[in-house]
Amino acid sequence: MPETNYDVAIVGAGFSGPILAAKIAEKGVNPRNGNRLKVALIEAGPYLKGTPRPGYGSPVRRQRFTNLESSNPVYHWESGGAKMVGGTSLHWTAQSFLPFPIDYIHWQKETGVDWTQENFKEAVAEIRRVFNIHQYPDEVDTRGNQLFYDVAKGMGHDPHRQSGSRQNCIYCGFCSGRRMCKYDSRSSTLGTYIPAAEEHGVDILPDTYVEKIVIEQKGERGVARGLICQSAGSTYQITADHVIACCGYTRTPWLLMRSGYGPPEWRGNPITVRNSNIGKHIDGHPGVPGVSALFDEPMGDGEVGSIGGYYMIHDDRADGEGRLLFRANFGDDRMPDMAALNTFAPEFGRKHKQYMQTKGILRTGSLRPSVGKGSGRWAMDPDGKIFYGGDHSLTIRRSKEGMAIAREVLEKMGARKITSIDIPVRINEATRGSHRVGSCRAGADPKTSVVNPHFESHDVDNLFVCDASVIPRVTTGNSGTPQASLTVFAAARIIDRRFS
Ligand SMILES: Cc1cc2nc3c(=O)[nH]c(=O)nc-3n(C[C@H](O)[C@H](O)[C@H](O)COP(=O)(O)OP(=O)(O)OC[C@H]3O[C@@H](n4cnc5c(N)ncnc54)[C@H](O)[C@@H]3O)c2cc1C
Ligand code: SF4
Repeated sequence: MPETNYDVAIVGAGFSGPILAAKIAEKGVNPRNGNRLKVALIEAGPYLKGTPRPGYGSPVRRQRFTNLESSNPVYHWESGGAKMVGGTSLHWTAQSFLPFPIDYIHWQKETGVDWTQENFKEAVAEIRRVFNIHQYPDEVDTRGNQLFYDVAKGMGHDPHRQSGSRQNCIYCGFCSGRRMCKYDSRSSTLGTYIPAAEEHGVDILPDTYVEKIVIEQKGERGVARGLICQSAGSTYQITADHVIACCGYTRTPWLLMRSGYGPPEWRGNPITVRNSNIGKHIDGHPGVPGVSALFDEPMGDGEVGSIGGYYMIHDDRADGEGRLLFRANFGDDRMPDMAALNTFAPEFGRKHKQYMQTKGILRTGSLRPSVGKGSGRWAMDPDGKIFYGGDHSLTIRRSKEGMAIAREVLEKMGARKITSIDIPVRINEATRGSHRVGSCRAGADPKTSVVNPHFESHDVDNLFVCDASVIPRVTTGNSGTPQASLTVFAAARIIDRRFS
């Protein structure tokens, strides 16, 4: 039976949990007696321990992080997302956009949080340093990507080279989707904040599923008292003075609702503390069809893999609503499974074999638009399922405009074949979307948010939330590094208000 009494219990060891654990254990003290805090970091998935060696990997991780393991349910939740110590920071693609100036403005405008660019300065600098965020070197650029840059620039666009979070990367190219880096090159919390947390005495409890937060009712409010955990077939209780939920944008609202804290219409167990915003207002980048092209000449030489080419941003309103972000990748896709299923690959027989043998994939590329700051939102229904709703006319319009811009660029690049853009754009749960945030959003007004700008629950004392779910609006680019920066910022706030 593990230790069961903590000052701080943090649920979820993905992007956010380890950052909070490391910082609170290092810098926080019990304000009553000045003692160091006892901190637990609890994770449903396994802990693949081993000294971080960026560029080499640790034996246990090299053995396990294969393409086959990328879909092993031991490491992934059925509904998506990673389940292990390090969480999604182990299977993200490490494409790194820090928040753009307009993203801070949108956060403030949406819910009144005081999360300004100035307030985030130190946190952003820390994540840039710790995750080694840098622009990809010119040596790994492809001629297709360079052609894109010249053509897009000539058309009046403003393309930029993509940045990533990697150390000693060998650019093997097997880096997309849920694949995990065998060489520890992709920056993760497992290789950075987890060792720091252990150094500062945090108890890491892997393979431990938190079933509920224990919330004692006090009139219409509640007080967090600890956790009900399941591990190795037994259920036990952890007592904690403070609980921080860091389970990600779907599992944090589920955990709160299972704990009796949520919207009154929730059809699971009874709700004793109400907040109608839990599981609502989910923003993200809806799945917009990418536009792919086939060229006469190879766009790359096969020496470097898919690591991210260029991006460009396109606004049509000064307030940034409906802003488009395009990603350009040409001639750098080496993953055999993706090559075999490429739109331009012959489907069957000798021709398909020839395409694979002659690296036909190197003649292809794509320009993929995504809509940030769209008009619709996802939400959880009373059974916890996610649906897309609201007025999403702006999102649809911008998706179509994005596809038309992509086609125009590809034509000017001299593509021989381009995939059709005359297809209906449907945005619903089936088309998914990525970088979802906001299911327990932070805000100044308890009527429209779940936590305050200091990450404290509006309704339950000693309960905090800090993960993708608190971000009031999706950022322009991917959400991982903004989320990590937000967590460094959150740690400073929580320590300042509660543990100093
Ligand atoms: C395939 C993929 C690729 C991505 N690529 C990029 C990218 O290139 N760049 C980028 O910036 N962003 C990327 N993202 C997004 C980024 O990874 C997320 O924004 C980020 O991981 C969110 O962090 P989090 O802390 O909210 O959640 P997570 O990192 O998912 O952490 C949540 C943790 O909580 C644990 N947990 C959940 N419920 C419980 C429970 N009840 N008990 C115990 N533990 C629990 C989970 O197992 C998990 O480890 C990608 C996401 C995915 C899925
Ligand atoms: S390209 Fe990706 S998988 Fe390959 S070494 Fe670099 S980070 Fe790791």
